[in-house]
Amino acid sequence: MTTAPAHLTATHPPCRSCQAPVSRTVVDLGMSPLCETFLLPEELNRMEPFYPLHVRVCDRCHLVQLEEYVSGEEIFGGEYAYFSSYSDSWVAHAKRYADDRIAAMGLGPGSLVVEVASNDGYLLQHFAAAGIPVLGIEPAENVAEAARARGVPTENAFFGRGTAERLRAEGHRPDLMAANNVLAHVPDISDFVAGFAVLLADRGIVTFEFPHLMRLIEGVQYDTIYHEHFSYLSLLAVRTVLAAHGLQVVDVEELPTHGGSLRVHAGHEGVHAPTPRVADMLERELAAGYDTPAPYERFAATVEASKRALLRYLIDARERGLHVAAYGAPGKGNTLLNYCGIRTDLVDYAVDRNPYKHGRFTPGTHIPIHPPERLAETRPDVILILPWNLRDEIAAQLAYTAEWGARLIVPVPVVQEVTRP
Ligand SMILES: [Zn+2]
Repeated sequence: MTTAPAHLTATHPPCRSCQAPVSRTVVDLGMSPLCETFLLPEELNRMEPFYPLHVRVCDRCHLVQLEEYVSGEEIFGGEYAYFSSYSDSWVAHAKRYADDRIAAMGLGPGSLVVEVASNDGYLLQHFAAAGIPVLGIEPAENVAEAARARGVPTENAFFGRGTAERLRAEGHRPDLMAANNVLAHVPDISDFVAGFAVLLADRGIVTFEFPHLMRLIEGVQYDTIYHEHFSYLSLLAVRTVLAAHGLQVVDVEELPTHGGSLRVHAGHEGVHAPTPRVADMLERELAAGYDTPAPYERFAATVEASKRALLRYLIDARERGLHVAAYGAPGKGNTLLNYCGIRTDLVDYAVDRNPYKHGRFTPGTHIPIHPPERLAETRPDVILILPWNLRDEIAAQLAYTAEWGARLIVPVPVVQEVTRP
């Protein structure tokens, strides 16, 4: 009996960018529920679906990817809990982007700006306020409706080649397209990118923002791995998938958002001259070995060490009789809570500013979620900040907790205390 080559026996699909077989593991976080499925009290006694969180890397195009264990339609269609406008710093980030683009591209009443995955209109509202025609494309109906309510015309659709061909046939050719924190979230990245090549005006610019893989690995940001997040992107991998559809990277910016993101500007091949920043970032990724297996193979051991340190801290706090609460119940928090096995035995409760989550429980770990006022009422000794990417904003919001000496901690890269501003 002969053994078939590994790529024929593997049960996972080929690379979603270049179709090569994908077998190299980056990290396996075990089984986890969908991170945005916050539970109502009456749902606590029901069975919950758990899916694998096993991340692999393609040795040919270096796309780090999570298999589509759950369909994008199931995750993002229908009702979706995330409203961008609940984060102050995110709304401010959007305003700066709009001001910069309007100035740099000379956008005006004769232009068109299209955002893909436009959420509740948090970004396009700033272009609309400047008199520039806008169109949002958003797959979650309740979120699209929230955008229309604030005056942002919004199509309720998934984006890809098909939607782009329909909009182009209707006469839309946007000068600027924005895709912020969506490139990483689409199961079929190839069809998605093809849509931009179809719709974008001949001299148009599309910008993609996504968490930078290099920062994820160096910062041990394993909690940014969840089922909604199908790809973990380096510039190397993004350049390859764009080029496959006739798009060229013309600029790249580093942003502090989401623990360290890239904003890649692209146009149709050969239309705009690339800035030196493109070659600089590619050189940095190559120098760090992101075209080799090394950085991917080292990651799992650092994740396990980070988990052990966090559990040691929380167990020690509990043994000393301290009360611990979590601030924020973001999707990423649920990967961390499930992977580390943190339930109400270690964290009493969580608070969040989003009223949708109040009275609900975290998926899998069943930690109750309350409004932020609960902190002042119960005065916990330790506050675990789950959205650590907003640590400065949150530490400022929590300045009042110094009154009773609460310690603020963040869980990654390794658990540490945060000093108040
Ligand atoms: Zn590939």
